[in-house]
Amino acid sequence: MSFTTRFAPSPTGPLHLGHAYSALLANDMARATQGRYLLRIEDIDQSRARPQWEAQIYDDLRWLGLRWPEPVMRQSDRMARYGAALDRLAAIGLSYPCRCRRGDIEAAAGAPQEGVPKFGPDGRIYPGTCRSRPMADAGPGDVIRLNMERATHALPALGFTETGPAHSGHHALSRDHLCRAVGDIVLMRRQMGGSYHLSVVVDDADQGITHVVRGEDLFGATQIHVLLQHLLGLPTPTYHHHRLIRDAAGKRLAKRDDARAISKYRSEGATPEDIRRMVGLG
Ligand code: GLU
Repeated sequence: MSFTTRFAPSPTGPLHLGHAYSALLANDMARATQGRYLLRIEDIDQSRARPQWEAQIYDDLRWLGLRWPEPVMRQSDRMARYGAALDRLAAIGLSYPCRCRRGDIEAAAGAPQEGVPKFGPDGRIYPGTCRSRPMADAGPGDVIRLNMERATHALPALGFTETGPAHSGHHALSRDHLCRAVGDIVLMRRQMGGSYHLSVVVDDADQGITHVVRGEDLFGATQIHVLLQHLLGLPTPTYHHHRLIRDAAGKRLAKRDDARAISKYRSEGATPEDIRRMVGLG
């Protein structure tokens, strides 16, 4: 199978040096193997996505010298696809509707217990308040969650290959870890066709992605993705989680760090080669 990778930005702010590194590294890896490099716009959160950020993404990436096949996959066009994946998980009894708000979850989580993690890769670990609600009871204000105990019952030997520098090797999924330290993740958020976890696995499969190249901050979410791939009958790609670009104080860059926006460097006269050098790819 030929190497196929993607860059999958969310149009919720300007691309910064961290995105440039991710986009360029994935492209370099595809070129080195004569593979394919695809773009995907992760605009599933329509309350935060903005057309001007999407336009700026195309402009910045072209300026960096990147090219990709058209048409570009956009999550906002694919809600029916995520709905079908959700239906499949519901049909095998692995999902439930949840009406808890953040405050309810915090209150139900109770006092911290030693050795029991409070946060996992999907945020605060859900205490299970709504777990026995049937899907037939789902209302418009609910999110849909995965019943992790059930989803990992009789889990076969699953895992993934990581080629990134920090965790290179084979990583086996652990039922104990998934139940204790990840918990009942959200499959569909309010007003959205799917959650990040659900849409990313469906999209990677539909784009034929063989190698996922992305930031180290998503390493912890990868076992969720491998589990969902298994439950949905989708292939598991190879993963490459790269280092994060940090600011002078060592803090990782966020969308609001406009000071590091590619467009800012462009307006100050930087060249694409300067950007490559700044992220250590020069
Ligand atoms: N859309 C995500 C982001 O902008 C990337 C998700 C991924 O590569 O899996 O951080």
